[in-house]
Amino acid sequence: MRVGLPALHRKLGKKRILLLGGLLISLIFIGVHKLNKQRNAAREVQPVLHKQFKQSQLRDWHDHDAMMRDAERSGPGEQGKPAYVVNMEYKEAAPDSLREYGFNALLSEQISLERALPDVRHLSCRTQTYNKQLPAVSIIVVAHNEHPTVLQRTLHSLWNRTPHELLHELILVDDFSTHPPTRFDVSLEQNLILKFGAKLKILKHTVHVGLISARIAGARMASAPVLVFLDAHVEATHNWLPPLLQPIFEAPNTTCTTPIIDTINYSTFEYMRASPARGAFDWSFNYVQLPLRDEERQLLPAPHQNPVMNGGLFAITAKYFWHLGAYDAGLDVWGAEQFELSFKIWMCGGRILEVPCSRMGHLYRDDAFHVKYTNRTDDFISKNYKRVALVWLDEYRDVLYKHISKLALLDAGDVSARHALRQRLKCKKFKWYLETIAPDLLQTYPPVEPPDYAFGALQSQAAPHLCLDSLLIPPRQQIGDLSPCSPDLKYPYATQYWRLSFRRDLRQRLKSNCLEVQSWSPNAPIWLWPCHHQGGNQFWYYDQQTQLLAQGEAAGERRCLEANVTARRVYMNLCDFANVNMKWNFGFVNKTMMKTFFKGLTKWLN
Ligand code: UDP
Ligand code: MN
Repeated sequence: MRVGLPALHRKLGKKRILLLGGLLISLIFIGVHKLNKQRNAAREVQPVLHKQFKQSQLRDWHDHDAMMRDAERSGPGEQGKPAYVVNMEYKEAAPDSLREYGFNALLSEQISLERALPDVRHLSCRTQTYNKQLPAVSIIVVAHNEHPTVLQRTLHSLWNRTPHELLHELILVDDFSTHPPTRFDVSLEQNLILKFGAKLKILKHTVHVGLISARIAGARMASAPVLVFLDAHVEATHNWLPPLLQPIFEAPNTTCTTPIIDTINYSTFEYMRASPARGAFDWSFNYVQLPLRDEERQLLPAPHQNPVMNGGLFAITAKYFWHLGAYDAGLDVWGAEQFELSFKIWMCGGRILEVPCSRMGHLYRDDAFHVKYTNRTDDFISKNYKRVALVWLDEYRDVLYKHISKLALLDAGDVSARHALRQRLKCKKFKWYLETIAPDLLQTYPPVEPPDYAFGALQSQAAPHLCLDSLLIPPRQQIGDLSPCSPDLKYPYATQYWRLSFRRDLRQRLKSNCLEVQSWSPNAPIWLWPCHHQGGNQFWYYDQQTQLLAQGEAAGERRCLEANVTARRVYMNLCDFANVNMKWNFGFVNKTMMKTFFKGLTKWLN
């Protein structure tokens, strides 16, 4: 029988019902509180969904005419295709140009300043609509010794692919470029003014101030509600801006957005598609990337959380930028500024979103080229790191000091104003940021690295005098030579020293280069490649029983390292326990660690 409330009243008496009522209310209260807590936590980890707007408030911002005109273009580098220098004279000069700039500047001179780029966006971006009332922007481009064609291509792409009703101004900050062809001479300036008219504002520094101060100076000049910061060697793609502005439009006081940064190849100027990623850092303060979370991947191309912005391509309202205290003006020249801003945004109640429908090409220089922005000999980058660590990292600053030991004793200047800012903004702890916004960072880059599963020389059992040797080959090349083994197999020469690290990759001792396999043919070669920390083609396992060295987590993907003793080379082939050429001795195997090798592995099946 169901008991109605009056009946219940009768049954329990007045006192009891009061008690029960109180209990019920507390239970409801606890329940709601818990739900809210869960909701808040969920909000912190969930991917970002656009707010719902009426169709009449939305607009297709694509410039279809310009897109059609671009589709017709042909010539060197057009449609983002790789270009090659054909002329003999150029061919001879190209290597010098590459050495001087870190990219093929001669080739850049042969490519149109208004070249067309491919549309590499997720298909659904093509039909995506955004609010009609998006805010206008001041685009701030800072430049120091940028090649004139590269700089002009940046400006042209922005001019041609930004809706002019949203483009309030284009601010070019020249950070005292001095190198002859890059110097802001009268003719370059005249050309720019002729082309872009009054919307282009040029701020010329008469001393070198560095990129951080240059950006702050540009922001001071800006008068639109939204600031977009860009490098001077980028190329904007069609409709890059509206998707970047939409999340800011929805939450202007707490949002910073970043585009996906595609690669412009330094030697061919090919436009190469990058994948969506979550920016992060390792404990040497290198910028690194983490994969999207599953739920974020499923919702692509919706924007997703970005723990650390990649360099300085981002949009933010001017109001929010200044509210956050801009960049720490004590950061000098270049370095760590993206960490400072990113930590601050997340820890002080904001969010950074990567927006996959917004794409921007970035000319990355050749790895071998070291850009030099100043003749100064003081270690300003380390000083910048320390300032950021002192203000934002809390107890984790010690982890950074452990990895960059010189930081501990370095004088980073006065940071009291930045501490005060952190207090004023009521920012959360760094631990919260790590655990909530980038928990996978702690797994991939643990503050204290667990010991290696195994390390030392890899000695062939088929020819015990031979060991796997990387010689002095730089990364991104095939390797696989067998050389006479070092006398000490546990602590061999550096080029024979391999580590089966806790990330289950096989890496060089001191460098972050890993062995990986890129093809499926029999006798597939192995490559030395920067470690990506994501298993896959860099996943390795050493089996102590069979002494096979297997690559690939899932059984169907697995192959083993095989020696060809006569050729003194190694290759990958299907694993065969009976094949002595596949048997290896590892200098040292940590048996305790090895017992944990399979913990948390999802795909491994024997
Ligand atoms: N830059 C500058 N002053 C400097 C160093 C750099 O104005 O002292 C400019 C540079 O020309 C570029 C931007 O700042 O447009 C970002 O520099 P870079 O591309 O080297 O940074 P990254 O791409 O490595 O983040
Ligand atoms: Mn750059």
